[in-house]
Amino acid sequence: MSITLDLSRVSNAPAVKAPVNLSGLTRAGLRQALIDAGVCPPEKAKMRASQVWSWIHHYGVTDFAAMSNVAKDMQARLAEHFTLTRPEIVERQVSKDGTRKWLIRTAPGIEIETVYIPDVGRAGALCVSSQVGCTLNCTFCHTGTQKLVRNLTAAEIVAQVQVARDDLEEWPSPKEDRRLSNIVFMGMGEPLYNLDNVSDAIDIISDNEGIAISRRRITVSTSGVVPMIPELGERTGTMLAISLHATNDPLRDVLVPLNKKYPLDQLMAAIRAYPGLGNAKRVTFEYVMLKGVNDSPEEARALVKLIQGIPAKVNLIPFNPWPGTDYQCSDWKTIEAFAAILNRAGYASPIRTPRGRDILAACGQLKSESEKLRASAIRKAEQAAA
Ligand code: SAH
Ligand code: SF4
Repeated sequence: MSITLDLSRVSNAPAVKAPVNLSGLTRAGLRQALIDAGVCPPEKAKMRASQVWSWIHHYGVTDFAAMSNVAKDMQARLAEHFTLTRPEIVERQVSKDGTRKWLIRTAPGIEIETVYIPDVGRAGALCVSSQVGCTLNCTFCHTGTQKLVRNLTAAEIVAQVQVARDDLEEWPSPKEDRRLSNIVFMGMGEPLYNLDNVSDAIDIISDNEGIAISRRRITVSTSGVVPMIPELGERTGTMLAISLHATNDPLRDVLVPLNKKYPLDQLMAAIRAYPGLGNAKRVTFEYVMLKGVNDSPEEARALVKLIQGIPAKVNLIPFNPWPGTDYQCSDWKTIEAFAAILNRAGYASPIRTPRGRDILAACGQLKSESEKLRASAIRKAEQAAA
């Protein structure tokens, strides 16, 4: 891995407006952009947008010149106003178990972690980030110790899927036998604090004439931003995952401090009202297993009671330790005993097997690793300059 110093943040050069990347525009947005830039007359915009859409999202092209059914002069106008370039991949790692992880830089200081996990969902799931950093400070989460840098744009969210598809060689978008079959918004950040961009990205990713990952195979995970949960359901129709982690307010206030603002009774009411819930559309409750904190049989029974009547599955996540944390992962036997209580009550409760441990493919870890490396490179450069 090479380390480069990024000095662009201290540059005094005037800011040049970057061309819009068409990958981040919804169908309606793309049509309008073509009209506004004078790429084609308004009456042709729908048809032209449809052609361009298919090249971008079905064939995955990154060059307007590859759009063979688009006239050369229109290709030139597109290239003049827009871009399709992929972001820079700062780091790529492949684990022994097939997990792949990319650190993607979309702009100076904007580094995004994306992880592909095989054999999850129908074939394999891509864990995407919605923000760089996070404003919420869940005490067991490494991302929570990093300041929010900013919300990701729709283009930056779609780019994570494109980069994975490039790497998995899945263009044109296959109808069957896909390796990337599911998307989970479980990377860095709180997706419901960036719902506009998350929702646009989901419209793009789920479009049938493009990447075509159905909304039923896209899961958005939230720590419990209650007022945005109905909107998530109405605007995206995706599967809902809730980072629960505790069954009573005093403990959840500590683990997920947002609970102080939106306590469990409000959260559970919002979940019960999520549109379309049923056996085919279950809520996933994520529950991180923290030794001696939330992992007792009493808590498993309290969990069964709390989610009673909700079509649900529970995902038990072995805690992934990070440098400086006081928490420890529960023992395997404790996790199994916890799962057994849930199973007896009729809830599927897979224990999420730790994946990609050898490449630190867990929430927030790659980012911080690279930040550490960058900090040390900057220190060395400063020492050299002194
Ligand atoms: N912000 C959203 C989505 C990203 S976090 C949310 O909180 O739901 C994705 C999942 O990883 C969450 O369930 C989160 O609680 C969990 N997680 C965070 N840090 C973890 C760690 N160190 N070990 C195991 N799971 C962790
Ligand atoms: Fe943010 Fe989710 Fe981590 Fe909590 S668990 S700090 S909401 S990323």
